[in-house]
Amino acid sequence: MAKTETKERGSITKVRRTIQYMFLFATYLLGLRHVMPGRESTGGAFDAFCPMGGIETFFRYIATGQTLKTTNLLNFAILIGVIGVSLLAGRAFCGWMCPIGTLQDMLAGWARRLSGGSKPKARGKRSKAKFPMELPPIVDKWARYLKYLVLLIVLIASVWTVYPPLRDICPARALFSFELGEPLLVSVLITFIITSLLIKRFWCKYLCPLGAFLAITNKFAPLRVTIDKNNCTDCGRCEAECPVDIPAIPENMRNLECVQCLECVETCAVEDTVVLKLG
Ligand code: SF4
Ligand code: SF4
Ligand code: SF4
Repeated sequence: MAKTETKERGSITKVRRTIQYMFLFATYLLGLRHVMPGRESTGGAFDAFCPMGGIETFFRYIATGQTLKTTNLLNFAILIGVIGVSLLAGRAFCGWMCPIGTLQDMLAGWARRLSGGSKPKARGKRSKAKFPMELPPIVDKWARYLKYLVLLIVLIASVWTVYPPLRDICPARALFSFELGEPLLVSVLITFIITSLLIKRFWCKYLCPLGAFLAITNKFAPLRVTIDKNNCTDCGRCEAECPVDIPAIPENMRNLECVQCLECVETCAVEDTVVLKLG
């Protein structure tokens, strides 16, 4: 039986938000540093700090011993760190650290407030706001495969390109590099903002090749969210709080789409039903 009908935002969410904002702030500082005087001391281009850059330059480095332009060995170091987190906790990087994910969460919150839904007082309640909205289930289902196609295209293209294939259309550069002299990057920035306001984590769900790359770790990472179906009352609270709108949770929690945010753990009002487990 449900212990309480409502549940206030709790400590997991607060800790997660704090960590997300710290990474967001650090990324903006990094971008700012790269447009300030003394750029030669910044450790290379802004791109060199991106884990996706390590994937983009991987084949070139294996084949020639050289990295693509604007990437360097730092990309590999950061990618290895992200893979390390993922091997332990699946896509926790997406739910707790990635500044692009954080900005999308913020934009979704603003969209909700601007379209008639105040910040929900209780967890697990569906907002009355018009935005962000969800795509029809069948469209959403197939659109989520697009990111794997993007990853494949990037890997193939990286064999022939000189710069990282995503560089000119990369939301990370558009959002954090402060190098907005390029019309294409400005278009990416505007598109990113609009899509994030309309649909929760649009980039993450449908297009991000790094998310696609990390998704497989959700299948075997030892630290994961589990559900005791015998206790579940099918109240729908976990589904309402899920930032990536995973279809058919709670049954479907061990899903490639899960970003291990633990909002479902925090939201479920039935004790010991949704828990984080090691092993
Ligand atoms: S899916 Fe991509 S953009 Fe989204 S949080 Fe994960 S790495 Fe970041
Ligand atoms: S299933 Fe739970 S942990 Fe996974 S993304 Fe949704 S709310 Fe977060
Ligand atoms: S697992 Fe989800 S649907 Fe089941 S009781 Fe908990 S919040 Fe409700």
